[in-house]
Amino acid sequence: MSGTSEGPTPAADLDRSAVTESDIHASPRTEPPTTRTGPPTYRSVFAAAPLAMAVVDREGLVVSANDGFGALFGSPPDQLAGRIAADLVDLASDARGWHAYLEVLRGREARLRCTRRLKQPDGRSVWAQVTVAPLPAVDDAVLMSVADISAHRELQAKVRHLQMHDPVTRLPNRTLFFERLTAALDAESYEEGGTGRVGLCYLDLDGFKAINDTLGHRVGDRLLAAVAERLTRCADEAGYGRAAAPLVARLGGDEFALLVRDSTGTEQLADLAESLLDAVQAPFDIAGRRLSVSASIGVVERLAAGTSPTALMQAADTTLYWAKADGKARWTLFDPERNAHRMTRQALASTLRPAVERGEFALEYQPLVGMEDGRLHGVEALVRWNHPQFGTLTPNRFIGLAEEDGSIVPLGRWVLRTACRQARRWQLDNPDEPPLFVSVNVAVRQVWDSDLVAEVADTLEETGLEPRLLQLELTESAVMGSAGRPLQTLQALSEMGVRIAIDDFGTGYSNLAYLSRLPVSVLKLDGSFVRGFQYENAEAAPNPADEVVVEAMIQLAHRLGLTVTAECVETPAQAARLRDIGCDTGQGWLYSRPVPPERIAELMGSRARGADQVVGNP
Ligand code: C2E
Ligand code: MG
Ligand code: MG
Repeated sequence: MSGTSEGPTPAADLDRSAVTESDIHASPRTEPPTTRTGPPTYRSVFAAAPLAMAVVDREGLVVSANDGFGALFGSPPDQLAGRIAADLVDLASDARGWHAYLEVLRGREARLRCTRRLKQPDGRSVWAQVTVAPLPAVDDAVLMSVADISAHRELQAKVRHLQMHDPVTRLPNRTLFFERLTAALDAESYEEGGTGRVGLCYLDLDGFKAINDTLGHRVGDRLLAAVAERLTRCADEAGYGRAAAPLVARLGGDEFALLVRDSTGTEQLADLAESLLDAVQAPFDIAGRRLSVSASIGVVERLAAGTSPTALMQAADTTLYWAKADGKARWTLFDPERNAHRMTRQALASTLRPAVERGEFALEYQPLVGMEDGRLHGVEALVRWNHPQFGTLTPNRFIGLAEEDGSIVPLGRWVLRTACRQARRWQLDNPDEPPLFVSVNVAVRQVWDSDLVAEVADTLEETGLEPRLLQLELTESAVMGSAGRPLQTLQALSEMGVRIAIDDFGTGYSNLAYLSRLPVSVLKLDGSFVRGFQYENAEAAPNPADEVVVEAMIQLAHRLGLTVTAECVETPAQAARLRDIGCDTGQGWLYSRPVPPERIAELMGSRARGADQVVGNP
């Protein structure tokens, strides 16, 4: 160990750029420190330099320190000699820094630079940048210099604060929010303990734009600041008794987010969301006015593992959208099923059109059975989508979409053609049987966007099916109020000999008298009416009046020259009552579910072999 009370060991050359690794390795350790080799001026330069410096020997002990160094540690420089340099600047506080320091002392590394927060004797703490580097041409000592970078750090912190906060509300902004969110979802943070879950309330003010537009941005800004204050209060209350309060941030415009780290479950988030709604709903007194707003909140709560900030924000965004769509001024919890439904809707919509061309659709047929004779009279064609990804889809999943994007036109054309061809096939295969009619559903858009009359005429001609064996089902809304094109279409079809049926009758606002003036010949009574008919006697039914209404409706329909088909007949009791009140035809699970065409051929065959009823006539 070198002498401690000896003078300092100023290097002959303090130019650090001259220090290279080869210098360190090349000079073998031979002589003790050559204390008086440099010109005396260097010693005074060292002593007076404003930068705090100390010469440290290879054992890590201070050989000599300058005044700046002494001032930093509150003691005369000569009293610092012999002290362990690393302790003075807290070098052992992190393993990596400590290792690098030892390497510099051993001459294996050229330089160490690190930042430390140092407590000064007066209790003030300073940020210090510590540099340890070899002294050129001095083999057994290194130079430690300590720069006070507190002012720089403070400025940096101020700049960062400005960059990370919103000036209007003083809340953390989007950037800081995402930084915190990313940290919360980082495996290291939740594996340390805690619940391993995160929660998010994504809040948007309802009607803020109107306030901004009518009262101006200044009032708008003050309102935002007031809202921010209330949200922060809610967060503080929610954080009471917990490790940390939720982080409140303004994401932009009138959007705020509350991040709950270590959430305990949806209940905690629901309570928070509820308190936020209450807080925002109370009126605000701003600029002499009383302002009322409400908020919509999307709430997401889940395991942190496996979630990315983007996925979480997307879920929150979708959920907020639901809250708005469901009527605003409410919070909504993320529902994976609802989300999957939305995703499949999108996925389906984008693949509908090519699916028609790829032939992914198939028809099933459901028997239409005579109520009196229990025999198979016709079938309704019902389309299915054999989706390569989602399996077999029923029409409720895609007909609406197909109507929206217009692909119902090519799809409907395919259905019509396939159904007519099939009906003709059954007829040809069973020449001794009375032929079955086929009933095909037609969407409103097909009436408007395609030349339905020409298409039907072509199809009938091409397949050889007689017009009387084709029935087209349109919904009430498609037919009601029809004037112009739809009416002309219906008339032309009817003149051709094709029958028109009103599907789901009774669900709209139909006017029977009006309907009778249209070329309509069949009413398909909606399943909701039939559901009330499952009781053996009318007295036991929850609402016997239903039955009276339906009976009157059937009588009126008959008088107007229409026949009536009941949908959704599921029980023999329903069938019996429907027959008693005069219903002509039935369709439903009691007779058969929708089935592939081969099964219909079998039913026709069994009819030919003498089993004359689809089911026993009740
Ligand atoms: P819809 O025309 O009223 O067809 C009857 C629906 O009721 C069918 O559903 C059928 O499977 C179902 N159903 C039949 N019997 C019973 C029963 O006893 N109980 C119950 N609960 N339900 C029964 P599906 O096949 O899902 O069709 C739904 C709707 O999709 C159809 O209602 C129709 O409006 C539409 N649709 C089907 N195929 C086509 C098509 O090719 N083109 C158009 N535009 N729409 C179609
Ligand atoms: Mg139908
Ligand atoms: Mg129907």
